[in-house]
Amino acid sequence: MRPCSTVMHLLLRCMRGCCRRSRMPRSLRRPLSYIKLIFKSLYFNSLTNSEVVFDSMLEPVFWMVEIVTRWFGMVFVFLVVALTSSVIFIAYYCLLPLVLQTYSPGWIMWHICYGHWIIVMIAFHYYKATSTPPGYPPKMKTDVPFVSVCKKCIIPKPARSHHCGICKTCILKMDHHCPWLNNCVGHYNHRYFFSFCLFLTLGCMYCSISGRNLFIDAYNAIDHFRHMEAEKQGVPVTGIGLLIGIAPSEGVAGKVLQEVSQPPYTNKDRMFHKSIIYMWVLTSTVSVALGALTLWHALLITRGETSIERHINHKETKRLAKRGKVYRNPFSYGKLNNWKVFFGVEKRSHWLTRIFLPSGHTPYGDGLTWDIYPLKKDMMPV
Ligand SMILES: [Zn+2]
Ligand SMILES: [Zn+2]
Repeated sequence: MRPCSTVMHLLLRCMRGCCRRSRMPRSLRRPLSYIKLIFKSLYFNSLTNSEVVFDSMLEPVFWMVEIVTRWFGMVFVFLVVALTSSVIFIAYYCLLPLVLQTYSPGWIMWHICYGHWIIVMIAFHYYKATSTPPGYPPKMKTDVPFVSVCKKCIIPKPARSHHCGICKTCILKMDHHCPWLNNCVGHYNHRYFFSFCLFLTLGCMYCSISGRNLFIDAYNAIDHFRHMEAEKQGVPVTGIGLLIGIAPSEGVAGKVLQEVSQPPYTNKDRMFHKSIIYMWVLTSTVSVALGALTLWHALLITRGETSIERHINHKETKRLAKRGKVYRNPFSYGKLNNWKVFFGVEKRSHWLTRIFLPSGHTPYGDGLTWDIYPLKKDMMPV
């Protein structure tokens, strides 16, 4: 804190000096007075520490990110739809005919059932995640217990609610604002978001594993024909060339004839191979990146916390540890119960019908009030 305070004190003195010595143009006076106000509010504040100063300095960056995310929200959604559709199209056009020609009836059945189930699950959960509002605290006066007041909305904030700078409102059980959904992930659409990530990862892994041999063949074919074309530079390879006497004779001519006898590498072949390479690279990359994100969210769900609460709980754990106390997340009901609450599993059959089939059931609770552990241990006795 001491070096930080010294730096800020020096900056304030410099700014004061600048203002006194030079006659500042009117257009610059207002921004400068704002900057001075920010420095003063940070300097003459007993709660200021290096973290607050660092956050304040990063505020313009956050502001820019918020503006970009808000303006390009629909572009991200279009990208998700376009990329997913292109992979589905290639799977139908390139993979499916090969599966039908080469696999046994049992494997064909499995590929058709699994592939279509994954497509339905991805489309359903993406549509629900983007179109379902995450849940908002009431704007009017109610009896709902609240933990603080939002400084931006000027409304009471129930437990687990947070303000989203992009949506410009408070969100119930806010996890994060997802640009790929152009929507906040909160109480009412958290399950759809997680299921979408899970099934998209499974779908990409399926395409990546099923298409790995095709990818190797396509890559080798493109590489082979690229080398062949490079060697053919300046050498006529057609029969007409030989007839009019411009082709070299003897050994070279024999080689040329051999090349001519190979089937031609048409634009259709080239497009087919490039599509396979595009699909494999895209699905493999997404499998790794989205797989890691899905695992991270699965860990958070197991612990009964959101992405925002992860940071808050981490800080609280460290703060209480210094005092020799152990912090316990009040919204965690035990590993298995957390999953039951998250997916809304109320009886055994729900493990199948509410997770592995499209289900539009509402989440547990209203997102305004929360059962606190250990008041109600067995929330859903399955
Ligand atoms: Zn708010
Ligand atoms: Zn938001």
